[in-house]
Amino acid sequence: MTLASRSTQQVILAVGVGILLGCVCGAVVIGAMVAPDLVRAALAPSPTPTFTATRVIYPTITLAPTASRTPTSAPIPTATPITPISATETITPTITRLPSPTRTPRPIVQHFMLGRPVATSIALANPLTNPDPVYLYGTTRRGDLDVHHGEEFENPMNTPLYAVADGTIVTAGSDAQPICGDDGKTVCGRDLSPDYGGYYGKLVVLLLERAYSGQRVFALYGHMDKVAVSVGDKVKQGDLLGEIGMTGVALGPHVHFEVRLGVNDYAHTRNPILWMTPLPGRGALAGRLTDAKGALVRGARITVSRADDTGNPLATETYSRDRWPPVNSDDDMGENFAMPDLLAGDYIVRVQGQQYAARVTVEEGKLAFIELGQ
Ligand SMILES: [Zn+2]
Repeated sequence: MTLASRSTQQVILAVGVGILLGCVCGAVVIGAMVAPDLVRAALAPSPTPTFTATRVIYPTITLAPTASRTPTSAPIPTATPITPISATETITPTITRLPSPTRTPRPIVQHFMLGRPVATSIALANPLTNPDPVYLYGTTRRGDLDVHHGEEFENPMNTPLYAVADGTIVTAGSDAQPICGDDGKTVCGRDLSPDYGGYYGKLVVLLLERAYSGQRVFALYGHMDKVAVSVGDKVKQGDLLGEIGMTGVALGPHVHFEVRLGVNDYAHTRNPILWMTPLPGRGALAGRLTDAKGALVRGARITVSRADDTGNPLATETYSRDRWPPVNSDDDMGENFAMPDLLAGDYIVRVQGQQYAARVTVEEGKLAFIELGQ
């Protein structure tokens, strides 16, 4: 081997090393340009795995709760159908009979002791004004007027008025002065109403010859035009007492007819329908509407219609003794509504706003009674 060949070998070796180093550095430079992450990973492998691990975990944690909310919101649409349709369907049920079995029926104590304050022929010709069914005892004419303590017989001025039974005149004159009570010094009407000449104007009170259950019975005629009797006069049923007028607090000609039991004053009235003999071919109806505790319901609207659907339904309003001066129920029957002169036959009685109805038979000359409970 010559010196020249040895140096040639060194040159070749040097060039080879140079090429190798050049390739490695070139590869690093190119790698850094093309795939910096790979190079970074190769040069610093330890920190990278921790970042990648946490990045993967975050989405799975945050997605989990949103996925769990979906089922909880699902029941809402199922709750939306409140089904009011099925509620209206339950209103249709057919008539159910009352009273309910748990309620003890009151005895029907009929005491038709009185005739009419006007001639029977007049009442028969105009049954819807003798008495007026819109303003019956205990009602308010749908809230327009005071609670009524009697019945209105609406007829022309100077229609004759007759004694409804045998008895004695205990009051006759003007209600502008206190002329009722046993001493003749008690106010007859609600008040003196001096501007109107007294609440009942010219009036007559008849004390019946017959007592009822040991109590005196009085019949009062108010708003008269002419008075034909004096205190102390004895009269027979059908005798003339005077004429219809519109004295006192009256909107038109009529007689306000009242029944008083025990005491001749405004606080002792009873429903005249329970005392007046029904017109020929007709009977009366009374009833009792109570709440769940058994107390009388006041102000409920009651409609009465023929079971065969003929004729127009009649309506009235319930009363109770909870306002002063009170209207009173019968001591035995405890009624809080009554209707006069219904043609004999079957009737359906309904309470407005309630689902049930009751059937009742009205017989000629008799009082039918019905219990309505809640
Ligand atoms: Zn009246």
